[in-house]
Amino acid sequence: MAEPTLSLVGMTRDEIIASLPERPDAKMRAAQIAHHIYGRAVADFDKMQDLPKDLRIQLAEKVAINPLIVASHRKSSDGVEKLLVHIGDNQVFECVLLPYEDRVSCCISSQVGCPMGCRFCATGLGGFDRNLNAGEIVGQYLLLQGLTERRISHVVFMGMGEPLLNLPNVLKSLKLLHEEIGLSNRHLTVSTVGSFS
Ligand code: SF4
Repeated sequence: MAEPTLSLVGMTRDEIIASLPERPDAKMRAAQIAHHIYGRAVADFDKMQDLPKDLRIQLAEKVAINPLIVASHRKSSDGVEKLLVHIGDNQVFECVLLPYEDRVSCCISSQVGCPMGCRFCATGLGGFDRNLNAGEIVGQYLLLQGLTERRISHVVFMGMGEPLLNLPNVLKSLKLLHEEIGLSNRHLTVSTVGSFS
């Protein structure tokens, strides 16, 4: 299994500061980076033009922005777009962009596969591989946001996985979606079959 790539997406402000080379302006630089990666869904260090060039080069050498790689991208005639993503291994999971007239929503995964085995569900029948970390969860939102000019205002955890079996990473993701990306808590929905460990 490939190790998850160290990525800025998924980090809190304090974690971004800790990932920077030691410098007196680390707090300000972390705020700028958070604005780029979460507020603007920037996926390229060269587009962070308010950061010093040496810092952009240092960051690019040691950390990714979004850990996810797109394996496939399908668009339906109704505007729904589905991405299959991974981190460089064969463990593929999915996320879906759902544009409606009055809002844009998305459906994201919390695990690769699922251990619950619901008989009506193809994911459940395929078994469980691993939990997704916060970067891999929030990274799905940001990849989908990059597909549309409209703001994705709603998120549903209803893709692969049982969110309550990956609670620490799901809670961290919800915090980042709310505090850094600015989504209303009322628009963040965690769908569960009710399993908790
Ligand atoms: S909990 Fe959800 S993802 Fe898991 S098997 Fe059941 S329906 Fe499928």
